[in-house]
Amino acid sequence: MKAVQIVKPEQLEIIEIEKPVIDNKNNVLIKMTAAGICGSDIGIYHGTNAAATYPRIIGHEMVGRVEEVGPDVQNLKPGDRVIVNQVTSCGECYPCKKGRGNVCDHLAVRGVHIDGGYREYITVPESDCYILPDSLSDQDAVMIEPTTIAIQSCTRAELEKDDMLLLYGIGALGSSILKIARQLCDYIIVADVVNEKLEEAKKAGAKYTINVLEEDFQAKVLEYTHGRGATVSIDAACVKNSLLLLLQATGNAGRVITMGFSTSATEVNQFLITSKELDVRGSRLQNKMFGKAIEMIHGGKLDLAGSVSHTFPLTKAQEAFDFIDSKDTSIRKIVLTFDF
Ligand code: MN
Repeated sequence: MKAVQIVKPEQLEIIEIEKPVIDNKNNVLIKMTAAGICGSDIGIYHGTNAAATYPRIIGHEMVGRVEEVGPDVQNLKPGDRVIVNQVTSCGECYPCKKGRGNVCDHLAVRGVHIDGGYREYITVPESDCYILPDSLSDQDAVMIEPTTIAIQSCTRAELEKDDMLLLYGIGALGSSILKIARQLCDYIIVADVVNEKLEEAKKAGAKYTINVLEEDFQAKVLEYTHGRGATVSIDAACVKNSLLLLLQATGNAGRVITMGFSTSATEVNQFLITSKELDVRGSRLQNKMFGKAIEMIHGGKLDLAGSVSHTFPLTKAQEAFDFIDSKDTSIRKIVLTFDF
């Protein structure tokens, strides 16, 4: 069967590997049907994802159909459409004991630290599979994974009805966060550098938008928050200076959520945090959020239909990655398909 492997940074290959077999009684064999391409996949390809190891079969937005089940599998049967959890954890370490397996000391993320879903078949434990709502196509269902990341950040932010949220960055990650944040609070300010995307954010429920290249970011945040600053800021831009900007733009007793992996030094100082007693919290991956995302879809609170802008067959992964690098403004979610 075919798989997409990043052999080393900047080297993507379509490789031929053995079809996996069920080697654990709790495992299921899944025939992949759709796999999303995420910014972090592009990062692994370009060698800018510090967490990744090589060579790696990437892909962590994994949708498919159960083809075979191991003898101890309880709840899944052949034909079930599922999305696969990207996070695997040990269950024994301090974070796992605290119920935070997404930052397990032995964390292994499919498609990052261990092989992921850009391959025709994958075997995973039954407990890592979530049955898809009938209403959702396999391609749109890849969006459940980014949605879980968005739910994680809003959960870490303890976002509530009376918050004034500042969401910095309205690319793929920010758009998913906006969808979730809208369910939790009404007062959302979105900042970005692309006017077209800011317009879309307004249509998607942002109250105010700021173009950080054209406007005075801090002054606008103050204006839109009646002079007090945001109560919650989420960094979905994840660029060198975004943490500093958000620490400045957040008011007393606020929460600032980081999601980026930038290692560039910035001018962050203690006064910014202590004087306002800010909670600065990281939000990484997701912690048991697949069920929540699917529940929201079933409840009619979340619609992921129409999220996909382009598809490429798995064997054309190179073209898909090159297209994403072109930064074409029509790009939203790009999905690899398996009908080649
Ligand atoms: Mn993703």
